[in-house]
Amino acid sequence: MVEFDIAVIGGGPGGYTAAIRAAQQGACVCLIEKGKIGGTCLHRGCIPTKAFFSTARLLDMVRDGAVHGVHADGLRFDIEAAIQRKNKVVGKLESGVEKLLAENKVEIFRGAATLEGTNRIRIHQGSVTGHIQARNIILAPGSKPITLQAFPVDGKNILTSEEFLAMDAFPESLVIIGGGYIGCELAGIAAVFGTKVVLVEKMPELLALSDPQAVKEVERQLVAKGVDIRKGAEVALQGRDAGKLQLRLSGQEDILETDMVLCALGRRPNTENLGLEEIGVKLENGAIGVDSHMRTSVPNIFAIGDVTNKIQLAHVASYQAEIAVKNALGGTAEADYRVIPSTIFTFPEIGQVGLTERQCHESGRDFQTGWFPFQASGKALCDGKERGMVKLFADTRDGTIMGASAHGEEAATLISELAVAMQTGTTVSQLAEVVHSHPTLPEMIKEAADDALGRAVHKVPRKVRKN
Ligand code: FAD
Repeated sequence: MVEFDIAVIGGGPGGYTAAIRAAQQGACVCLIEKGKIGGTCLHRGCIPTKAFFSTARLLDMVRDGAVHGVHADGLRFDIEAAIQRKNKVVGKLESGVEKLLAENKVEIFRGAATLEGTNRIRIHQGSVTGHIQARNIILAPGSKPITLQAFPVDGKNILTSEEFLAMDAFPESLVIIGGGYIGCELAGIAAVFGTKVVLVEKMPELLALSDPQAVKEVERQLVAKGVDIRKGAEVALQGRDAGKLQLRLSGQEDILETDMVLCALGRRPNTENLGLEEIGVKLENGAIGVDSHMRTSVPNIFAIGDVTNKIQLAHVASYQAEIAVKNALGGTAEADYRVIPSTIFTFPEIGQVGLTERQCHESGRDFQTGWFPFQASGKALCDGKERGMVKLFADTRDGTIMGASAHGEEAATLISELAVAMQTGTTVSQLAEVVHSHPTLPEMIKEAADDALGRAVHKVPRKVRKN
């Protein structure tokens, strides 16, 4: 039996990145996937939502086109074509990743993997079972949606994002339970596509971890798109009648009637049926416990991605993959989560990196805030997208950037420059010295850096604020 240098379990952005990286370094690698290569991100997460978001953004812009003199009288939206396009994007990326794995000589096994020893894996698909041996194992089995007992998922009227993104039509009415990023992204998309959406969140605010000014703008735009937002309310299933569901919200009188309920309550690590306990891989709070080297309690077994429950994002899974591979091949790399950008594709987009403003205050360090509004940006005005802001927080002592946030058009892209600045230790003065092309949205980053120094050209002068 061949003994692989590294066997990777799970073919999402964590697993396939690990497999390719290891193969690039000359290791003999295999990848075991029980579903489709690409995982949640490609098939049920990032990519289908962003394909839909792109369609929704275009539709929204065309509807608002009159201000540019573009009148879309008789506009017709073909939802089937939008769904087909989304499927095509997913299919193209899936075959792209499969080709990359093949070109890198990663051996792919189709089936569900279970650990049978610290070097032995059983692979089973239907009635066929096989075994492989590996010196090191990287676990990347991802996560699954959290569900509510009171709302049993039936794939028809009660769905999670997994079934929702695989639908071949959108419902007329939809109640989304959960005002986190998945709930808010899908609420905006569905509303633009013509669905009557109610968004229910039990906490007092949506998007609890985001900048409050960004959240306020997202709420404003969701409401403008017809979304009925109910915050601070728990929801209960009251009954079903003729294909409709009746829901009651705590503390509210009215009964909501809807075609569909989407449970968007977050995701939990997928640790089942992997044989973890049997071979001594320890769990911590329901996730696979790892140290900063991505090593589990068994020295030759690593875990990466959503299953570690560190930060459940695709690029974090890929980052952890690189760390795990380095260490599996004899290195001593450590994961550092201080500069992880995160983006939310709501209307408008939100981007964030490093500490939030609240965390900056809590850190006890002296910092300067610099901000710049979209309404003072020439490019934002040309695009008709004047709502939003870029904000950054710089350490008063050494000028390093502690964190930044942006909301508005292309905020998800804008935040990358601030991530580069943070990662490279660029100070706020150095950032302000970078010549930015005009007219572009990233000019606002230079202006925000200038503003932190009390000298933004396109903003009314103000005194430097020391927090
Ligand atoms: P996954 O992508 O979940 O892949 C795990 C794979 O392992 C799966 O293919 C599964 O079939 C396989 N597997 C599991 N068990 C076994 C087994 N025993 N044997 C063999 N194979 C197995 N993140 C972002 O960064 N940006 C976004 O915009 C974004 N949008 C999202 C939108 C939605 C609606 C959702 C649900 C998630 C989104 N995410 C986003 C999160 C992102 O999808 C995850 O963080 C990412 O997919 C995690 O990657 P992973 O490799 O850890 O696991």
